[in-house]
Amino acid sequence: MNRIKENLTAIRRNIIDTANNCGRNPEDIQLIGVSKKKPVQVMKQAIDAGLTILGENYIQEAMEKIDTIGREAAVWHFIGHLQSNKAKFAVQYFDLIHTVDTYKLAKEIDKQAKKLQKCQDILLQINIAMEDTKSGARKDEAVDLAQKIMACENLSLQGLMCMPPYFDDPEDARIYFKKLVQIRDDILAAGVSTGAMAQLSMGMSNDFAVAIQEGATMVRVGTAIFGSRM
Ligand SMILES: *Cc1c(COP(=O)(O)O)cnc(C)c1O
Repeated sequence: MNRIKENLTAIRRNIIDTANNCGRNPEDIQLIGVSKKKPVQVMKQAIDAGLTILGENYIQEAMEKIDTIGREAAVWHFIGHLQSNKAKFAVQYFDLIHTVDTYKLAKEIDKQAKKLQKCQDILLQINIAMEDTKSGARKDEAVDLAQKIMACENLSLQGLMCMPPYFDDPEDARIYFKKLVQIRDDILAAGVSTGAMAQLSMGMSNDFAVAIQEGATMVRVGTAIFGSRM
């Protein structure tokens, strides 16, 4: 077995055990393999080993790799910061965009999706620890933004995404995952449909087990699958 296959097997096992131990259905948790800065050969290895969803951060890099590997070879998620002027490419290449954090960006994605006669699945990204260095909407903007996105014809809101600060002890991230769940509940209480809040994209290599315990439905795992990025 190659290294990537071994890593995937161990992570899948961990996801299943963690879900079972907290009374969740493992099938409600999707594993997204984060392949930024990784070459196409290793991405293909992961696909061959059964990984079905790949996450990319940079539009230019992603377009080149997706063109090589094939748009239909996997489900492609965009998880990086998205500038409005790249929205067109994100819509062309990606099945789900995790990082919608302003109304301006939402409107631009909506416009580009309309041109392609596509309904674009998106998540609303929240800057959960209010870090200056990170993108994401503020907590107090979340309800208003979710409602505005719901009014965009060619957007299909699927849920929320966050990226807490890195902690050596993943337990320290737990409060931030709880905060995202609270924001989800606030948005639901404001009348947004449950289907539009079905997904919680949270948890990375170091803390995905804690995220699953707190309700993650999508975990974004890079290093633990592909090794460290140079
Ligand atoms: C790089 C990245 C990940 C994966 O991080 P790892 O620690 O390598 O698992 C997940 N989410 C986002 C948004 C990222 O940019």
